[in-house]
Amino acid sequence: MSNNIFQDIIDKKIPAEIIYEDDLALAFNDISPQAPIHILVIPKKPITKLSASDDDDQKLLGHLLLVVKKITSDKNISDYRVAINNGAEAGQTVFHLHLHILAGRTFGWPTG
Ligand code: 5GP
Repeated sequence: MSNNIFQDIIDKKIPAEIIYEDDLALAFNDISPQAPIHILVIPKKPITKLSASDDDDQKLLGHLLLVVKKITSDKNISDYRVAINNGAEAGQTVFHLHLHILAGRTFGWPTG
């Protein structure tokens, strides 16, 4: 096991309900869903958080958003929230970049 639970999911060392996978990205259901639909989209490249990415990641970061679009389109989800928590004070608990896709209920704004 690594000290990064998402790396263990990428490496298939621990199970996850995988929704989508390609060479660059993986998407799976969140283990503790905060909405009826709660999917995490992660890069396979071990970027700890958005602020640790760099210009070389431009294509990868765009790809992650297109994965969000593909998943929501395939599931006929029209309204959804995409969230990235960057750093502990912003709520990040797993230090491998991930996009939350949340859907299936109404969301307030601003977030708590
Ligand atoms: P963060 O708080 O870092 O933005 O989000 C981390 C997310 O990862 C949380 O929503 C949490 O429920 C989810 N998570 C943590 N450990 C696991 C795990 O082992 N499997 C899955 N599928 N999700 C996890």
